[in-house]
Amino acid sequence: MNIPRLHPDTIQDVKQRVDIVEVIGDYVVLKKRGKDYLGLCPFHDEKSPSFSVSPAKQMYYCFGCQAGGNAFKFLMELGKRSFSDVVLDLARRYQVPVQTLEPEQKKELQRQLSLREQLYEIMAVAAGFYHHTLFQPQGKIALDYLLQKRQLSPETIQQFQLGYAPEGWETLYRYLIEQKRYPLAAVEQAGLIRARQTGSGYYDQFRHRLMIPIRDGQGRAIAFGSRTLGQDEPKYLNSPETPLFHKGKTLFGLDQAKTAIQKTDQAILVEGYFDVIALHQVGIQ
Ligand code: ZN
Repeated sequence: MNIPRLHPDTIQDVKQRVDIVEVIGDYVVLKKRGKDYLGLCPFHDEKSPSFSVSPAKQMYYCFGCQAGGNAFKFLMELGKRSFSDVVLDLARRYQVPVQTLEPEQKKELQRQLSLREQLYEIMAVAAGFYHHTLFQPQGKIALDYLLQKRQLSPETIQQFQLGYAPEGWETLYRYLIEQKRYPLAAVEQAGLIRARQTGSGYYDQFRHRLMIPIRDGQGRAIAFGSRTLGQDEPKYLNSPETPLFHKGKTLFGLDQAKTAIQKTDQAILVEGYFDVIALHQVGIQ
């Protein structure tokens, strides 16, 4: 892929605007310790925190594995992403206008920017679609399951934007591609549809399932967990790995829990989606 060369001014501007505590805080629970922040290192296994973040220096350093650097390096190492990809993402987050060295590279830049942006948008639209369908007649079986079997309140269902993926092979496909006009390749990259193995065409990844949006630290839907409502296997099915979703780097519910974790200096880790959701419902955040 042709990676646009960013103008040094842009890199400088982003560097000045970025708050490393905020950036790392999306992935690591950080506790204030004197002038710095301390947390569990995401680059090696540890039980007591030796990962330190300095807001004054805008640097992180791990006393256990010697990982260290600035916010750019952190995101590059953690997500195995390129320098310009990381800078572009941060530029968007902190609303820094982007310039490239050569004007003709602007197009490629826009393309890269818009792909990630589009994936986020597609995931948000899909989550809205599933949530809406939950309250349609066809979603009754899923809604009954949530209200009766799981004893969830309408507020909780709303809070976690739970949904229903309807029966049929192409329901979401038709909604996203034919109605919303999203590019096929992007919807496929978002992990929502799959190419048929025989013949041509695509089918929905999730059918007749209860849908649970999985969000990143900033609360953006990046994947789905799902539970079957019929007899089909597997009982639980997740989104595949996508440019937005890295299974081993995502903890379900962290976006809703991180403030409470910081405040109480305590985290409760449970196994399933519904364990997390049930705890929130009774006020344990
Ligand atoms: Zn470390």
